[in-house]
Amino acid sequence: MEDCIFCKIIKGEIPSEKVYEDDEIIAFKDINPEAPVHILFVPKKHMESLLDVTEADADLISRIYQKINDVAKDLGIDKTGFRVIVNCGEDAGQLVKHLHFHLLGGKKLGSKLIK
Ligand code: 5GP
Ligand code: ZN
Repeated sequence: MEDCIFCKIIKGEIPSEKVYEDDEIIAFKDINPEAPVHILFVPKKHMESLLDVTEADADLISRIYQKINDVAKDLGIDKTGFRVIVNCGEDAGQLVKHLHFHLLGGKKLGSKLIK
């Protein structure tokens, strides 16, 4: 996708602080972190949002969660806890129209899901 920021990051056209990468997935630090750990896990295939996910993506989505699990353990936040967020559409405030999973941790995140 030509105008997609995350596609540009995937292609290396925009720099990012990469945490993990393989053929299907990239993970990098959020440019505007909202917690000490704030990493975005992004499928390399351009999908606009969760609404584009189908059964054909079952393995991919499972692998993204496995990598979130691995990175959380690597960073030690498996012991303290963390949150995974997917924003979808306008009311959720989805800014980047390329499916991504926020991994947030390293501080108390509060008990509420909605601010
Ligand atoms: P959304 O609101 O769409 O769920 O989250 C998009 C996230 O992408 C935001 O937390 C924002 O800070 C992050 N972001 C936007 N542009 C860039 C960028 O160029 N590089 C990085 N690393 N993160 C970005
Ligand atoms: Zn994209």
